[in-house]
Amino acid sequence: MNQPDGHSRICLCLTGETIQEDLETYRRYARFSDMAEIRADFLLPEDMRRLDRVPSLLPVPLILTIRRASDGGVYDGAESDRLELIRRALAGGFAFVDLEEDLGQPPLEREARSRGTRVIRSFHESSGPDPGMEARIRGLKRHPTDLPKAAVRVDSTAELCSLVDLYRRLEGWEKILVGMGPASLSLRILACSLGSYLTFSSAAKQQAAEGHTDPETLDTVYRARALSRSTRLFAIAGNPVLHSRSPRIHNTGFASLGMDAVYFPVQAESIEGFLRLAGTLGIRGASVTLPFKQAVIPHLASVEVDVPRIGACNTLVRSRGGWHGANTDVSGFMEPLAAASADADLSRLRATVIGAGGAARSAVYALRRTGCEVLVLNRTPARAEELAAELGCRWAALDRRGLSAMAESSDIVVQTTSVGMSPDDRSDPVEGYAFQGHEIAYDIVYTPPMTRFLLRAKSAGCRIIQGGDMLLCQAMHQFRLFTGKEFPEADRARLRTELVSSAGDATAGDASADDATIV
Ligand code: NAP
Repeated sequence: MNQPDGHSRICLCLTGETIQEDLETYRRYARFSDMAEIRADFLLPEDMRRLDRVPSLLPVPLILTIRRASDGGVYDGAESDRLELIRRALAGGFAFVDLEEDLGQPPLEREARSRGTRVIRSFHESSGPDPGMEARIRGLKRHPTDLPKAAVRVDSTAELCSLVDLYRRLEGWEKILVGMGPASLSLRILACSLGSYLTFSSAAKQQAAEGHTDPETLDTVYRARALSRSTRLFAIAGNPVLHSRSPRIHNTGFASLGMDAVYFPVQAESIEGFLRLAGTLGIRGASVTLPFKQAVIPHLASVEVDVPRIGACNTLVRSRGGWHGANTDVSGFMEPLAAASADADLSRLRATVIGAGGAARSAVYALRRTGCEVLVLNRTPARAEELAAELGCRWAALDRRGLSAMAESSDIVVQTTSVGMSPDDRSDPVEGYAFQGHEIAYDIVYTPPMTRFLLRAKSAGCRIIQGGDMLLCQAMHQFRLFTGKEFPEADRARLRTELVSSAGDATAGDASADDATIV
């Protein structure tokens, strides 16, 4: 922990319409929350008038906030009424009250201080950090007990780097400093370790601000309260990436092995942007996902021998000379397939790979290495042609003629496009293909666990392989490259239940998964 008082705090933002609703939300997350913020601008008028009762109902330090619409809140009444509501609520004994930067209300501040309530002096900036922001934040501290707060919108990795720089310039100085927007998740996880007094969170599906995650995820997946400057940082770079299950996998391994390390998603606009942020934060290793697996290769100082041949890299490990690149998708792809086809000689089988992106490259490479004959089908035929030429296989467009060719090359059918991935989970890139039942159908998409493609294959009697199996296998190899340690076996079995066997809970479309032959 890098704050003056050595504590990290998760603060739960409560945005219910009633005090009762806020109490229920708090109870749900009590174990994971050190503080709570009553966002009273969301309350119905009659409950707003009863705010002074709230501190006696909740056992943690409370922040009282009535946020104006102009600052991103929902209060649209008269300013004099808002100030009167705050003044009356202070009688209840809040630990903190949030008063905005422009508010010149010394009597209200004096009243707060006389009741032992600390003033959080805040501003919310809808554009990225700028060079004048350090002085502006320092200027928020008008009284020794004031706690300055800046919430700054960050939309790019360059703005994330500027925010990290701001943290460093304000090092050792008590403040709340948080990023806003979906791209800010990484720094919300790291906020306290970077020196913020607290990090904000919201109940699941009730985000008080973009970029919030729920306190349970912050505490149990990311261990946000335990992070410090010496914590080793690992990340996954991609776009989109916030849905990724990889943080759950790697952080579970770190926690079980008692490692002071964290793995978090970075939604990046470019691989160059991610690499700059990785340098700024000192990230030690990273997974690389869609759409950067090919684009990252020119930035590598060294590579495992397979990477140039595959033309895709999904793992970065920092070395003395720069980034070392590896590909764990090939072995991650092959292990479930080898288990599913243990009774067959793969070199005698014919396979179709649907898609020609980064993941398809690994699948085609793995299949070709076993001697399998491969047909590549892709929406953009030129990419299929390029991949087929590089790895020595046949290709066709993903159209009616391509699907006819697939019927002749269908011992193994591998789906590697992003079609069918949540929220697009009713789609199937080969809707026009009728499974015959002899195919091994492999979908590398893992959300939902059972895609429409797999459901159709399964109802035709095919053996199926779910993307969650590949995800876990490739992550196990990555974990070893990141840490030099084996991933704990018991965790692996538990995660597999979540990622693969939960198919019945998260099934694409409306077909039933009950009679699946899950390999
Ligand atoms: P990528 O490099 O961006 O490639 C995407 C592929 O999907 C391309 O072939 C693209 O065709 C195709 N595609 C996209 N939209 C399409 C549409 N509407 N109709 C037909 N084809 C479409 O992505 P990637 O890295 O290969 O990842 C692809 C998927 O695999 C993602 O869902 C990812 O989560 C999953 N994945 C899973 C694992 C695992 O461990 N289970 C590992 C890696 C990836 P065009 O060339 O025509 O654009």
